[in-house]
Amino acid sequence: MGVILPLLMLVLTSAPCSAATLPQTSAVPGGIALIPLGATPPGTVRFEGGPVMVLPDAGQYWAVVGIPLTQAPGEATLTLPGGATLPFAVATKDYPTQSLTVPNSHHVNPTAEELVRIRNEASALRRGLDLFSADHPAFPLAMPVQGVVSSPFGLRRIFNGEPRKPHSGLDLAADEGSEIRAPAAGVVVLTGNQFFNGNTVLLDHGQGLVTFYGHMSRIDVKVGQAVVRGQVLGRVGHTGRATGPHLHWGVSLNGVMVDPRLVTGEWR
Ligand SMILES: [Zn+2]
Repeated sequence: MGVILPLLMLVLTSAPCSAATLPQTSAVPGGIALIPLGATPPGTVRFEGGPVMVLPDAGQYWAVVGIPLTQAPGEATLTLPGGATLPFAVATKDYPTQSLTVPNSHHVNPTAEELVRIRNEASALRRGLDLFSADHPAFPLAMPVQGVVSSPFGLRRIFNGEPRKPHSGLDLAADEGSEIRAPAAGVVVLTGNQFFNGNTVLLDHGQGLVTFYGHMSRIDVKVGQAVVRGQVLGRVGHTGRATGPHLHWGVSLNGVMVDPRLVTGEWR
């Protein structure tokens, strides 16, 4: 009895709205806003025209909104079913700058032919990142690799002296061949070898949460395959635009890349 009672209490206290816990919030460009929506299911809530994740927690529903790195600080707006709007504040965040030297100059200034390939690959990625399936993701996500953070999210990057897009993921340095594991259950929606990203996998976790794996030495999953949390997706490598073996891990919410540390509970 002494053992059963605490277990029973745990079940009872976590029963209502226990389907999900929320990611951490940081309402800045590249962050996540958590916006309370009340106790009744709100229907489809939109940001910039697209649907956003809605999860129950602590007796009410929350919009879980990915904020683009390009978002201007100030007021942003959610649209509710029926057209009512709900404003929320986006604070400023200054990300540091990093200069990198990559040995292959094509990875800084691609040829016209390479640009065609890059555009096609970007379109395929965009289709994957814009998916919005019905599954409910469970937070927090696990780290996909046991590695050291070698480059944080959001760095403004200068490659061989030329400014390029900010860093849209988290780089986890690990030995070549280290296992990359699914941080949560999902479905593989893209695999392939890309010009910048090298061997690449996209996992759809549901409600607009899609995770990205780049520079892999090997891919061990196929498009359409359902994976469980902890399942091996492939191995760490340095394919594509990489200066050494690492996983580039990207986390996308409603089609925008956000700081992965917010979904693993490791954000400070
Ligand atoms: Zn990276």
